[in-house]
Amino acid sequence: MSDLRELYQQVILDHNRKPRNFGDLDGANRFAHGDNPLCGDKIQVLLKVDGDNIVQDVKFKGSGCAISTASASLMTEAIKGKTVVAALGLFDLFHEMVTSDLPEHELDPSLGKLGVFYGVREFPVRVKCASLSWHTVHAALTDSDAVVSTEA
Ligand code: ZN
Repeated sequence: MSDLRELYQQVILDHNRKPRNFGDLDGANRFAHGDNPLCGDKIQVLLKVDGDNIVQDVKFKGSGCAISTASASLMTEAIKGKTVVAALGLFDLFHEMVTSDLPEHELDPSLGKLGVFYGVREFPVRVKCASLSWHTVHAALTDSDAVVSTEA
């Protein structure tokens, strides 16, 4: 188990150092801002959703702690190419993973690499950091040009 924790740490550090899908997105048609005042994390999610409701591309901008940046990076990788319905389904699974007491071996396999955030449930303040990008993308996909705050 400690080897697994070590691996999780490595994935989070790697995505914080080299965030994937970071920057501007030409032709984006869904946006949302997210704010986690408790930690100071700020994020903007930009998406290009096509006529078939498939997330063709997704990028994020902003600044925050290692957990929020790594989570945003992994979130963009996870939802790119998925349908909006599938992306919202992943939001639900992620939210359940970090807020419930579901045992690790019962995690939905479709979470894949997102399972690295399983351990944040032990740190309530960090749950907000890890969830920020997911709440933000959820807002962007359900109500374009939305603003979310973890304080809400
Ligand atoms: Zn944070």
